[in-house]
Amino acid sequence: MNIETFRAAPVRAESASASPLPEGRPSRAEAEAAVRTLIRWAGDDPDREGLRDTPARVVRAYEEFFAGYAEDPVALLTRSFEETEGYDEMVVLRDIRLESHCEHHMVPIIGRAHVAYLPAGRVVGISKLARVIEAYAKRLQIQEKLTAQIANTIQDVLQPKGVAVVIEAAHQCMTTRGVHKHGVTMVTSRMLGAFRDDPSTRREFLSIIGGQRWQVEG
Ligand SMILES: [Zn+2]
Repeated sequence: MNIETFRAAPVRAESASASPLPEGRPSRAEAEAAVRTLIRWAGDDPDREGLRDTPARVVRAYEEFFAGYAEDPVALLTRSFEETEGYDEMVVLRDIRLESHCEHHMVPIIGRAHVAYLPAGRVVGISKLARVIEAYAKRLQIQEKLTAQIANTIQDVLQPKGVAVVIEAAHQCMTTRGVHKHGVTMVTSRMLGAFRDDPSTRREFLSIIGGQRWQVEG
């Protein structure tokens, strides 16, 4: 598939992957000043020795936490392979470490993702699938939207017979504040194509990822 044709077609993936960065991104110095303000708001002195370099460190950490805004998940999937010897069985990536940040509290969402697709002639390098997950995870997120974005992008760009995404994650906004619910994992899933329509395909995927406990809805 050439990039031009596919760039023109999948409107949904394009808009989902477009970086929402507004105009006038603040400078690094402004970002560091904001961290100093938050330290003072917390009740500490940003000029004491242990905190002096903290604003710079926090801003560098933010560059890592939110690196996904600079990635284009659609572009990551454009290089696919058609020489598959007719391989048309399920491709599953399971237990992919997931690190994101909740958009309501800006604290970590930590968990794992499982992604599967049923190829229709084209496959993509597995590292690319992992990077698509990361490109969406390293943004401010809610788990439901993250799950849907990953599935929709793979479906729109690769156009397989189906896509399944399951994410299990703990939200630190639930475990370290508010209701302080420890050991609670949120599970979200998005099933498209054959994974939605064919119970046996969905069952096969869920059994591969060890998710028998979610088969009740099947
Ligand atoms: Zn939250």
